[in-house]
This record gives sequence, structure tokens and C-alpha cells, in this order.
Amino acid sequence: MRDTTYQYIDGSWIEGESNDEITVRNPAEPDEPIVSFPGADQEQARAAVDAAEAASDQWAAMAPADREAILYDAADRIEAQLDSLAETLTREEGKPISSSRGEVSRAAEIFRFFANDARNATGDTVPSNDPDTFTYTIREPLGVVTLISPWNFPIATPSWKLATALATGNTVVLKPSSETPMIAKRLVELLADAGVPDGVVNLVVGSGSTVGDHLTTHEAVDGVSFTGSTGTGRHIQKTVADRGIPIQTEMGGKNPLVVLPDADLEAAAEAAIGGSCGGTGQACTATSRLIVHEDVAAELTDAVVERANALSIGPGMNDPDMGPAVSAAENETNLEYIEIAKEEGATLLTGGGRPEDMETGYFIEPTVFTGVESDMRIAQEEVFGPVLGIIEVADFDEAVEVANDVTYGLSASIFTSDMTSSRAFTRQVEAGVVKVNGTTTGSQIQMPFGGMKASSSETHKEMGQRAHEFYTHEKVIYRSDP
Ligand code: NAD
Repeated sequence: MRDTTYQYIDGSWIEGESNDEITVRNPAEPDEPIVSFPGADQEQARAAVDAAEAASDQWAAMAPADREAILYDAADRIEAQLDSLAETLTREEGKPISSSRGEVSRAAEIFRFFANDARNATGDTVPSNDPDTFTYTIREPLGVVTLISPWNFPIATPSWKLATALATGNTVVLKPSSETPMIAKRLVELLADAGVPDGVVNLVVGSGSTVGDHLTTHEAVDGVSFTGSTGTGRHIQKTVADRGIPIQTEMGGKNPLVVLPDADLEAAAEAAIGGSCGGTGQACTATSRLIVHEDVAAELTDAVVERANALSIGPGMNDPDMGPAVSAAENETNLEYIEIAKEEGATLLTGGGRPEDMETGYFIEPTVFTGVESDMRIAQEEVFGPVLGIIEVADFDEAVEVANDVTYGLSASIFTSDMTSSRAFTRQVEAGVVKVNGTTTGSQIQMPFGGMKASSSETHKEMGQRAHEFYTHEKVIYRSDP
């Protein structure tokens, strides 16, 4: 019999009790569902928060070295199951198996890195004006934190939220995307096996509209960390605003890659295709606008199209360059945007539809448009598929103006060999992450990550040396002994 117990509340795996049926399909072979189960209802969402609240004091009081040891153990367990976790990820999300293996091993690395926050999230001792008063700060956990994650990096994203929250002594309720509940369940099972006590980590799988507001507005929730679309993130910001609790929302992007005439054009073309089609374009940091100086536009365009045409497409288990889109709905949206771009007057250079002879599966061709203008919808709205728009500009200033001419501000890159231009770009571009001669995608876990403008609440960056700041109160203490 198939396992349909996807809710983990206070240390017990139970069935959801709502009428929402969650069906997981392999996006490469969607005809046969992998599993179907009922999502959580509102009472279960509230019960998960209650369980996290009940477990909170004990977990916060545990010696930091003991919390750290549990998280190290979780990292070891993830690594020990790398192959089967990667297979689960590819079967439900669709990405090439080598990418899944990379993501799973990154999850282990994330747990190891942030386990140290248990001991390293320290305060400061500060010189006092009064010799009889000791002045210092301490960091304390927020309490109960709700973690909400999307489907596109379905083990890495929950891992960086969980690891930091748990290391710093918080208890959590994790709500993963309903597209990718299997890998979330396996991650929570591994945490329980590693010794995370009952109630410290709770998993609620359910429709955002059914359980979402209960997970963010329950009076015991002390913080919310969300990654997903700007629409959902803005909704959560509004619903949580009245309670004034800390909130972190990392959201969508419309990321530019600028190419100047003095750039290494082969490297720029490689980065443009890697950034736009890697992961089937389903990265918040995906390159969607290639902003190129008119002097090198023709040569760069040829190099980009050549690379797009060379990409292999297929089921993730065959490890192609590009797997399918995650769902029928996502792929329909991709195809709609392609029609919109054509109607707006952009010129389709390659791709633009489903690959021939691949009727089953949510496959789509790598797609490149030229003649894109900055005010077109294809240059303004997040597509979340392998669709790249080329925008020609006359000089550096126009390139920066176009790069900044969107509501989003997540990541941006420039290809140039001129230090003055690259320095000016890093200063002027409106993006939370800026690369010089690199892809817009990809990040290192010891570096902070997060956007600006409509891409982020800009309250705290995730990852990096100071990720713990979001998950902790800084208390300022003046102690005068009698
Ligand atoms: P989404 O906004 O549809 O869903 C994200 C999560 O929010 C899911 O778990 C969903 O169930 C939940 N949710 C939906 N309604 C809710 C509500 N009312 N209350 C609480 N939770 C609710 O996003 P998606 O389609 O899963 O992911 C793709 C999006 O995520 C893209 O826009 C992408 O750019 C963005 N993303 C951003 C980053 C980043 O770090 N900036 C990283 C990855 C993905």
C-alpha cells in the first residue's frame, strides 16, 4: 500500500484531513501519478504550531553543542542516502539526476555549515562607560518559526531555513510546496532519525490557500521565513503585518546579464544559456534578459542560439542538459509567454514550443527571442521557464538603465574585461546579488543571499555568516552588580 501519511505533527506521521487531494506526478511521465494523498486541514496546521510551541523551551535550553551534534548527524544521513534522495527529487521535480545529486549534497553541506550557528551565533561584549556596569548583548531564539518553501530547490531551500532555525534554538513548522512533498518528507524523516525531538520540526503539506494563513497568523508563531513568488510573498507580508513579527520573504526575479563589446563573448554566451536554460529556467536567479551592446549583438546572438540548439532535452533520470518543467500549469504559462512575446513583436530565433516526438511530459524547447524592448511583458514579468530575451543597447549607461527597468532586483551580471565598467555596474545595478563575468545563477552558502525591490522584503539575507540574525533576538544587557 502506498504511504499517504505526509503530515508530521508532534513526532507522529498522520494523514491529512482536508478535502484537498495532492497528487504528485513525475513531470517527465505525468500520466501515472506517483502518489496521491489528502492535504492538511486548518486544525492540523494549528496543531503543528501548537506542537512547535510546546517543544520550544526544551529545545532552546538544550546545550548548543548537542543541537549542533544532531544537525551534523542529519548531514551525515543526507549524504548516506544521496543516491536515493536524488532519485526522489528528480522523480517529482524533474531536474536532471546530476543536478539533483548536486542539490542533495549541497543540503548536507548546508546542515554542516549552519550547525555551527548553534555555537557561533554570539553576542558582543561592549566597553561600558560605567566601570560597575557590564554591558553586553546576547542572542536568543525567536521561538516558533514557520518556514514556507517553493518547489524549485526542494531540498536545498528547506535545508538552509531548517538548519539555521534549529541551530539557533527555534522550533519550526515546515510547509513545502505541494509539487514536491516527497523530498520534504524524506528530509524530515532524516532529521527525526538524527535525534530531533518530537514537536521541534513539524511538517504540514497542504494547499497554501487552506493552511497558509493559519501557519503565518497563529498567535504562537514568532517569525516567518518565506521563499516563493512575489504574489504569495506580498500576501504573507500583509497578513503578518498586524502581528509585527519578524518576516523574511525572498521572491521572484527578472535577472539581467549585460554584455559589453570588450567581453569574452564565448564565455558570455555560455553563461547566458547556462543561466537561462539550466534547471529549465526554473531558478529565481535565472537569466531572462540578455542586454547586449549593439556592436557585438550579432556575434553574441549567434553563439547563444548555437548553444541553445545543442542542449539535450529529456527525462531527468537520463541526465540530459534540460529536464521538463515541473508541472502542466508551469509549462502552459511558459508557452503563453512565448505567444505574448511574438504578439508584442519580438522575433523568435529558436525554440518556442514543445520538442517534437515528446508529447508526454512537460517538455519545452530552449527559447531565444531577439528584438525585445524593455517595456514588453516578456522583458518585465517573471516567466520561470527556459526563455531568454535579447535586448540591444547603445552604451553602458543604457545597459544599466534597462537592467534596472524592472520591479525585481534579485541577481545581475556583467561580462566585460574593463574594471571601470565592472565597478560602475556593481555600484549602479539594482540587485541583491551581483556577478562580474559569471552566471546570474549559483551562490556559495557562506555568502549572504537575497534580493532588492520586489524580489525581497530586505529584512535579512538568507545564508552567509549572519543568517542567524533573522532567527534570533538580540538582547542588550546592562548589568550592575550590587
Ligand atoms: P509560490 O509562491 O506559488 O509558492 C511558494 C510556497 O508558498 C508554496 O509552499 C506554497 O504552497 C505556499 N503558499 C501559497 N499560498 C500561500 C499562503 N496564502 N500562505 C502561505 N503559504 C502559501 O511559488 P512557487 O511556484 O512554489 O515557486 C516559484 C517562485 O519562487 C518563483 O517566483 C521564484 O522566483 C521564487 N523563488 C525565489 C527564490 C529566492 O530566494 N528569491 C528562490 C526560489 C524560488
